[in-house]
Amino acid sequence: MASHAGQRGRSTVPTSSRVAAGSPGEPRPRPADTLRPATAPVRAPLEGVPQAAILSGVTSRTYFIRTFGCQMNEHDSERAAGVLETMGYRPAPDPESADLVLFNTCAIRENADNKLYGQLSHLKPLKLAQPDKKIVVGGCLAQKDQAGIVERAPWVDVVYGTHNMGALPRLLAQADSESLPVIEILEHTEMFPSALPARREVAHHAWVSISIGCDNACTFCIVPSLRGPEKSRRLGDIVAEVKALVADGVREVTLLGQNVNSYGRDLVRRGEVAGPGPRNRTLFAELLHTLGEIDGLERVRFTSPHPKDFTSDVFAAMRDVPNVCEQLHLPLQSGSDRILRRMQRSYRSQRFLDLVTEARETIPGVAISTDIIVGFPGESEEDFADTLRVVELAAFDAAFTFEYSKRPGTAAVELDGHLDPATVNARYRRLTELTRRLSAESNQRQVGTVQELLIEGPSKTDPSRMSGRTRTNRLVHVPRHPAAQPGALVHARLLEATSHYLLGEVTEDPCDEPVGTPPPAARAAAGVPQ
Ligand code: SF4
Repeated sequence: MASHAGQRGRSTVPTSSRVAAGSPGEPRPRPADTLRPATAPVRAPLEGVPQAAILSGVTSRTYFIRTFGCQMNEHDSERAAGVLETMGYRPAPDPESADLVLFNTCAIRENADNKLYGQLSHLKPLKLAQPDKKIVVGGCLAQKDQAGIVERAPWVDVVYGTHNMGALPRLLAQADSESLPVIEILEHTEMFPSALPARREVAHHAWVSISIGCDNACTFCIVPSLRGPEKSRRLGDIVAEVKALVADGVREVTLLGQNVNSYGRDLVRRGEVAGPGPRNRTLFAELLHTLGEIDGLERVRFTSPHPKDFTSDVFAAMRDVPNVCEQLHLPLQSGSDRILRRMQRSYRSQRFLDLVTEARETIPGVAISTDIIVGFPGESEEDFADTLRVVELAAFDAAFTFEYSKRPGTAAVELDGHLDPATVNARYRRLTELTRRLSAESNQRQVGTVQELLIEGPSKTDPSRMSGRTRTNRLVHVPRHPAAQPGALVHARLLEATSHYLLGEVTEDPCDEPVGTPPPAARAAAGVPQ
């Protein structure tokens, strides 16, 4: 594995190093990059940040945040925006007009380094033209590259890691007073980002972090070395945050953690909670039941659980707690037991299929999505055929598929048997052909039913339509309707399906019973090709 990014412990390094920047490419901003729209901020105390360090009088400055990577980063960016707004900053529409540009980085995706440094190179002329503009880099790549960021991009003012976003005001003040780049990377989390103020992307939905870090060591993943060991928030703190969010208009929360269903084990280990309570549930199942008692909270989702830690009480909670949605993201990664071993994923394909069977039999209408990596080092044609077999039997309702590529700092880089890109790509295309067919079949089964939609806003491709999500997280577009306002719950009759979305219309008819997908055992018995 990579050297631990935080081994140096706290390192606040003002540096005057000025080296020529490389020109690592010119990637364009991805559509998924986040521009913070104007929504009401949630105000919470800036715990852990000395109030005296918060810049005073910064009332007319503006900021722009670009988010790379996963939902955890989306959540962190909402917090970074909240911290900046508490300091008096206001959103700007683009980096050019902003007084402060923050890149919240990701180290997981392919070419993450090139993308970051490419985008940073675009900021160099802006910084030269506007020397007072502050350039900030935070998140996973900052945790990994540390001072390397300002060595490659000396126009960066502040670098912070995955554990110290709350220090942003102090670091900005320091960069201001010293006129030098400031780098601070911590080894351990001092406070949960969720304790920071937030500026949410949409008014009715919030990300809620329940744990950070990970105790596993999957060989393709750099998260444990960048986010550290798993640390769970206290249940009472999570519930208090969710209640405050609901009071602020939130109707749906997504609980976030690298491994949500091991939530609380570290609290038990440290003796901070006594372990399973009188109902003998895991703490994650207990959390779901507790959130089910919050009036006004319409929907609870969570991501991501680890198959090895999944317990039946969580399936039962998904069936019994009305506001917990029938949506399960269960990362398979590979259907080959040999490759799962090389990935250091400790479940096997049959255990995974048993979980899918239990979920489909326990939770009526559940939709199951997954992550799959194609072309992991050593993957043979036989291993890949195993993946296709498991995917076909599991009949995922949606799948996120990835071509394996080397990620510096992961153990997989050192494994033998790396495949040539053409082979990986050919397998990837075969897999996506299958997952698209399964998604289309799953969506087709919903046609003719009436389902509850939470309206998100106008369709991104057709403004005459509004878009919303079913409880199973299916994307549905409906013609504009007075009831279909952002944040509203409406009923929609589903009329047409594709592999990615459904078309429907708003109706006053009651919702139908959810329509699910047959479990793997039933599909095998029905002669699904294996
Ligand atoms: S469980 Fe998830 S976050 Fe943890 S090491 Fe594995 S892939 Fe990474």
